[in-house]
Amino acid sequence: MTALIDSFSADARWDMHCHTRFSDGTFTPAELVKQAKDAGLQGLAITDHDTYAGWDELAQASIDYHFPVVRGTEITAYDKATSVHMLAYLYDSHQRAMSELFDKTREARLKRTRKMVEAISKDFPITWEGVLEQVREGEKTTVGRPHIADALVHAGVYENRSQAFAGVCSSSSKYYIPTPSPSTHEVIRGVHAAGGVVVIAHPGALGRNRELLSDAQIDTLIDEGLDGLEIWHRENSAEQRERLSRIALKHHLVMTGGSDWHGLGKPNLLGENTTPGNIVAEIANMGSIPLLP
Ligand code: AMP
Ligand code: ZN
Ligand code: FE
Ligand code: FE
Repeated sequence: MTALIDSFSADARWDMHCHTRFSDGTFTPAELVKQAKDAGLQGLAITDHDTYAGWDELAQASIDYHFPVVRGTEITAYDKATSVHMLAYLYDSHQRAMSELFDKTREARLKRTRKMVEAISKDFPITWEGVLEQVREGEKTTVGRPHIADALVHAGVYENRSQAFAGVCSSSSKYYIPTPSPSTHEVIRGVHAAGGVVVIAHPGALGRNRELLSDAQIDTLIDEGLDGLEIWHRENSAEQRERLSRIALKHHLVMTGGSDWHGLGKPNLLGENTTPGNIVAEIANMGSIPLLP
């Protein structure tokens, strides 16, 4: 067994962006931990969309496998016209500031997903009940387009989730309804009130938005206390990584990486992008709850 201290060296590799069944990943937190350990990683962060419902199961798995984990969440937000995902690490989940950020978003996601299904079901053989069958942890799961996609795959309309996202589930499809969500400013305020660390997820992902966050928008978030940028992510182009690294270095932000693993729901491989252990130690120093085990 490797000593825990080896997890914090510069050559230790942590996957700081992983989804489980508590949002739109296809494996449990325990399966995530086992796969990360088998893949030779030194640690991981769980970052399900808009929930911490998977944290307890992750904590138990971290003890069972003696594997280091960071508890986190990927929060859906907006900044002007841009949809922004923010990774929140090591915050106190008992703080009301956090559940207020999620509860509204999760309710809104459910309503809007249902509305999308009503429209889609006029043209394709799916039902709301069929979509709910794809939701694996009941009310604890953050429901969204991926579950519609899985229902379409189940009905034989598409071969896999990514094909569904290229078609009916795409944000440019006529069925698309955006999710009302908090602003980036509200997220920074809320996560910091709960003692957590905030990193912008895939800020250079050109395929997700017509417009990326500008330097000026990022500067404003830095003034408000933004802690880091996710640099190593498959959807950040080479030029964007360059641009984002410059910003991070200039403002002493943490630079992170992660796979955005969704199990079988996306082609992304666990550990395809990682964060060095010494950066994780910095994040741990800033957070208000400990790393586990
Ligand atoms: P929603 O948040 O409900 O609008 O759904 C969008 C989310 O679907 C994004 O955050 C992605 O992480 C997720 N997603 C899961 N699987 C896929 C996939 N195969 N292709 C595209 N997006 C996906
Ligand atoms: Zn996702
Ligand atoms: Fe994301
Ligand atoms: Fe993600």
